[in-house]
Amino acid sequence: MNAAAKGCVLCEEAGGEIVWSGALARVVDVREEDHPAFCRVIVQRHVREMTDLEEAERAETMRIVFAVERAQRKLLNPDKINIACFGNMVAHVHWHVIPRFRLDPHYPNPVWGSRTAGRPQPLPERYWERFRDELVAQLGEIQA
Ligand SMILES: [Zn+2]
Repeated sequence: MNAAAKGCVLCEEAGGEIVWSGALARVVDVREEDHPAFCRVIVQRHVREMTDLEEAERAETMRIVFAVERAQRKLLNPDKINIACFGNMVAHVHWHVIPRFRLDPHYPNPVWGSRTAGRPQPLPERYWERFRDELVAQLGEIQA
């Protein structure tokens, strides 16, 4: 079930601070300085592509991605949310879910694009705790 691939950083490490974790995927705070609410949804087992997942697992993965988006909208009211799945650097399915603000350091470019005049937008008080509560409300309890 949880087949790990040798040398894959997302099989060997959490990939960030775990905020929520389920049987299929985990949500991590990647601690990105320029984009402090940036998080990733990482499938627990090593799969290269979304089509390596069963159909129900794909649907569940997207349900988690959208739960993250919904929680970010509720808590941060961002100008936009960017969702991306590349895996060119680490070929283990993970989704980037990034709240964007007109005043952030890269807007309107992608967070990997050219810098603009913006600055990191501070998180509201107790953000990650409240974010976790939102995910638990939508997805159920975190697994031990
Ligand atoms: Zn992996």
